[in-house]
Amino acid sequence: MPKLIVRPRTLKELWKLLPTLPAARKYLAGGTDLVTAANAGFDACGVWVDISGLKELQSVKETKTSVIIGAGVTIAGLETSPVIRRWLPVLTAAIPHFASPSLRNMATVGGNAANASPCADAVCALCAERAEVILELKGKKRRLPLPALFKGPKLTGVKKDELITAFEVPKWTHTGDYLKLGPRAYFGISKAAVALAVELEGDKIKSASVALASVAPVPLMAIKTAGYLTGRILGPETARAAAVLVKTEVSPITDVRSDADYRREMCGVLLERALLGCGVQGLGASG
Ligand SMILES: Cc1cc2nc3c(=O)[nH]c(=O)nc-3n(C[C@H](O)[C@H](O)[C@H](O)COP(=O)(O)OP(=O)(O)OC[C@H]3O[C@@H](n4cnc5c(N)ncnc54)[C@H](O)[C@@H]3O)c2cc1C
Repeated sequence: MPKLIVRPRTLKELWKLLPTLPAARKYLAGGTDLVTAANAGFDACGVWVDISGLKELQSVKETKTSVIIGAGVTIAGLETSPVIRRWLPVLTAAIPHFASPSLRNMATVGGNAANASPCADAVCALCAERAEVILELKGKKRRLPLPALFKGPKLTGVKKDELITAFEVPKWTHTGDYLKLGPRAYFGISKAAVALAVELEGDKIKSASVALASVAPVPLMAIKTAGYLTGRILGPETARAAAVLVKTEVSPITDVRSDADYRREMCGVLLERALLGCGVQGLGASG
């Protein structure tokens, strides 16, 4: 556990405070990963900088062309947002799969990304939604496509003291789904999960994004599969062929939760189901 916890109230206060603190410091958001790791003896950090008081990180905003989600928004906050429900069908579908209601009250979307678990549900869904991540260091901002943030399991391109402040998701007319295979129907880390977003023109797929969790060292974009889907008629034949293709893009491992072959097979099953589900609904739009 840390020796000191500090709690700035604004971003300005945060940037002023950081140089006065010992170098071994970490941000604390909802604490669902950090406190768990510290309790298990895996976090030897001296100072936690509690960012849960930063109001600048806590809103879901809508512009003409995009939805901007503050990094400090909790998963429960996403769940109750009409803007998220209206524009982000894949993220909306992922939320009930995320842990338990009590955990969703604490866990933030920024923490889900910074923790960089290959199983991260909100991150996987946001990748399929084509999100960009916005980072800030002492007032200097940069942005990158969300999948580019991840370098390996628990490893990101976030620099020392850099803060994830928000995620910007373009408004695009799509439907989609998030299917997660875990040890139980709900509440558990996935063996495999598929996030699918499709833009439909009648029964033709105008564009598609496919992201997968727990089947590669990082949340994975199935680029070849998405390319294959683009321009095709959404039906059983396309879904079956995409299911075969996606299995060639993943690189799962065998661990305590599942084995590699089963995970690979399930990626195909989940994607086929997600595609057929979108075809049946035929929504063609997120709202
Ligand atoms: C019982 C249990 C069940 C879980 N189930 C799921 C699940 O089903 N799906 C899932 O995806 N996850 C699950 N998790 C993992 C966890 O809840 C999520 O990863 C959560 O989103 C982390 O957010 P947090 O706000 O709690 O992060 P914290 O624990 O506060 O922080 C995590 C890490 O991110 C850093 N950090 C946090 N915010 C920022 C920021 N804005 N900028 C830069 N760095 C930052 C911290 O320094 C720390 O290193 C589960 C965890 C537990 C304990």
